Amino acid sequence: MARPATYDAIVVGAGFSGIYMLYRLRAMGLSARVLEAGTGPGGTWFWNRYPGLRCDVESMTYSYSFSDELQREWTWTERYATQAEIERYINWVVDRLDLRRDIQFETRVTSAVFDEASERWSIGTERGDQIEARYCVMATGCLSVPNMPRIKGLERFKGRWVHTADWPREEIDFKGKRVGVIGTGSSGVQAIPVIAEEAAHLTVFQRTANHSIPAWNHPLTEEAVRRWKEGYKPLRAKALVSPVGDVFDPPTQGVFEVSADERRRRLEKHWQLGSFGFLSAFNDMLTNKASSDTVGAFVDAKIRAVVKDPAVADKLCPRNLPIGTKRLCVDTNYYETFNRDNVTLIDIKANPIDEITPSGLRAGGVDHPLDIIVFAIGYDAMTGALLRINPRGRDGVALKERWQHGPRTYLGLMVAGFPNLFTVTGPGSPSVISNMLVSIEQHIDWIADCIAHLERNGRALIEATPEAEERWTRHVTEVAEGTLFLQAETWYVGANIPGKPRVIHPYLGGVGAYRVICDGVAAKDYEGFRVSRGKTPTATAARRAS
Ligand code: NAP
Repeated sequence: MARPATYDAIVVGAGFSGIYMLYRLRAMGLSARVLEAGTGPGGTWFWNRYPGLRCDVESMTYSYSFSDELQREWTWTERYATQAEIERYINWVVDRLDLRRDIQFETRVTSAVFDEASERWSIGTERGDQIEARYCVMATGCLSVPNMPRIKGLERFKGRWVHTADWPREEIDFKGKRVGVIGTGSSGVQAIPVIAEEAAHLTVFQRTANHSIPAWNHPLTEEAVRRWKEGYKPLRAKALVSPVGDVFDPPTQGVFEVSADERRRRLEKHWQLGSFGFLSAFNDMLTNKASSDTVGAFVDAKIRAVVKDPAVADKLCPRNLPIGTKRLCVDTNYYETFNRDNVTLIDIKANPIDEITPSGLRAGGVDHPLDIIVFAIGYDAMTGALLRINPRGRDGVALKERWQHGPRTYLGLMVAGFPNLFTVTGPGSPSVISNMLVSIEQHIDWIADCIAHLERNGRALIEATPEAEERWTRHVTEVAEGTLFLQAETWYVGANIPGKPRVIHPYLGGVGAYRVICDGVAAKDYEGFRVSRGKTPTATAARRAS
């Protein structure tokens, strides 16, 4: 058998995390290889290509900040970038930094096993590679494993079906077709208005109505881009310490700390800001039920003002869903779409899907003839990609076993018993609750600095202690208990996947506060981690000796 290829570090995934990790590892003089299942970089932005897809975080902030050259040279064209533009951007970054030669595409990682004798990770891939590395960085993404439909009769459907999270590269022609979209989360809300314009008829199957805020997308003028670029330094600095990694001014007052007039004025102002700026109107929307209900009623009124048929508007108004506890949707013409003659809304909570038939879908005993079904039903979020690989750490213990009651991490960065294995934006970190680019850069910087520390100090191994992991996991839960997040059935708490443990997955303590904690841990000689010489030399020492 051929000897396994050996690197100092293996990075799994060439999304925004994996690309930056590679850059940092290379800058440290370590040998690194990125293994990526897709044929190109971008991660979730590579696999998602559905019509209407844009990033719903503003392009000027949803981009790398680590290199001033990159942020000055690249020019975004719209307030919210399309998938195509984001894909062009990440490819441009990869080539601009000459990273492509260290990325192995079309390579899906299937296993990662810690070998106690060599103190290395042994990585296996679907195409049969065996690779060994001192460090293994799981840059596998939080929204990368689609929640695949498990609906009776799907295999008999004579039409075509697609999933938003695994969209084909070729265009799908909806013209003249009867299309069904199942799911009204961020993906469905973006796809529905665009598909409705093309399809002969669109039937939207909604299980839970979510809150959607207008994007107010527009082209970026040269002047706007210039202003952003000139102000980048303070704006980026503001995002680092903000609650969710954005540039909005954090709210200082609660909903009932102002008069009714001022409340309405402020909500209107934040509605006009669009997107997640809406959540920065007041500081207690996510923690106080009465505040949440008041803001929810404001959004309901907006929906009713747009949707002409009151019965349809009623179905579109969220019920028993504290605003923001299910990730907000951000839309262009979503509610307006339900005024179209060729669009029907079916409430599948009241009329559950019976089955998919050869010619369509039956819900509540009624047949809906369809040519194409679009599943916009989301992901096995945050843990899905890690558990699919199911790394095995010390004593051959599998991650699935360690996480059978829900994910347990220290800082969302490491798992006890899995030395030198890092999870980028893993469960227990702010991650999906924040501007992902801000959280990704923070994690990659922390991991890279940690690896540099080990190499510099002749330490071969780092691992979270079980005590620190236990403390952190409890803290993550306690913080969530102080919010309304546990009251909603969402993917944040694993509720969208049958059998998934019902625990809060992201850390809700805020991006700025979390950064201080992580930096403090590093400054205290990696408090809560066991850092040891191990039995084998560090990656740098081993290379010097060979
Ligand atoms: P999602 O938020 O999980 O929404 C899935 C939708 O499908 C929900 O309406 C859900 O209903 C419904 N659903 C799930 N399983 C179903 C079933 N078996 N039968 C019928 N309906 C079912 O997924 P998503 O829209 O793909 O978004 C996931 C996340 O990706 C977002 O929250 C966001 O973080 C990210 N995203 C970001 C962007 C961006 O622009 N940055 C765009 C798209 C997505 P229930 O609510 O009742 O479960």
